[in-house]
Amino acid sequence: MRIVIKVGTSTLAHKTGLLNIKRAEKMCKVISDLKNAGHEIVLVSSGAIGMGLGKLGLTKRPDDVSTCQAAAAIGQSELMYTYDKLFSEYNHTVAQILITGAFVTIEDYGKNLNNTLYRLLEQGVIPIVNENDTVATEEIIIGDNDTLGAIIANRVKADLLIILSDIDGFFTGDPNKDPNAKRISVVEKVTDELEALAGQPGSRLGTGGMVTKIKAARMVTENGIEMVIANGKDPDIMYDILDGTAVCTRFLSQK
Ligand code: GLU
Repeated sequence: MRIVIKVGTSTLAHKTGLLNIKRAEKMCKVISDLKNAGHEIVLVSSGAIGMGLGKLGLTKRPDDVSTCQAAAAIGQSELMYTYDKLFSEYNHTVAQILITGAFVTIEDYGKNLNNTLYRLLEQGVIPIVNENDTVATEEIIIGDNDTLGAIIANRVKADLLIILSDIDGFFTGDPNKDPNAKRISVVEKVTDELEALAGQPGSRLGTGGMVTKIKAARMVTENGIEMVIANGKDPDIMYDILDGTAVCTRFLSQK
């Protein structure tokens, strides 16, 4: 299978913004194993801004764009250093791909991006994609990595998009506030009503939230790709997702 895995800041970093070493190590181990089993993997990784802020000793996202962009420049290099080191332990090669909205709107950029992604996959490399937050501006921003994950899954014609977050899936309400909120295990089709249930983004260091995840689900399932939202706190869940036994929400492909 060709699998795009999107990992959020809340999965990769502690609340301080600093790397969650135990989790990052386990994540790279499981992904390496899935690769060894024959799956092709593209990783869409957040964490640049969060980790950069952590390194600068800032515990909350500042309002000014320049500090966030500077933090992204700092955090992105730590992110890639970490991935390169951890995947190398299992003999896997990684490649950094940083894109902005211009790659979606300008056709030639998009073609080049596709060529590079396909060539890397042919060569058995794990492409690691993030938005180039350091240079993305209002006009050329993708904005969140759930959407980026969906864009990349559609481009590489993935079989599955896995979104690893800090929640077990999609709930009928906010499980942190509403004790009656229930996890929906299978979504046959993303409807407007379902999107309306998704509420508002919440996390402190990353962006996104459920709204962007449901939009991502719509983008890929309409294109024939299944999507899963699962909790990344134990990366072993990726095995269960492939076995069909995971606690998660599965969005069925519409084709
Ligand atoms: N590109 C951002 C980062 O790496 C994260 C965006 C998101 O999590 O949606 O920090």
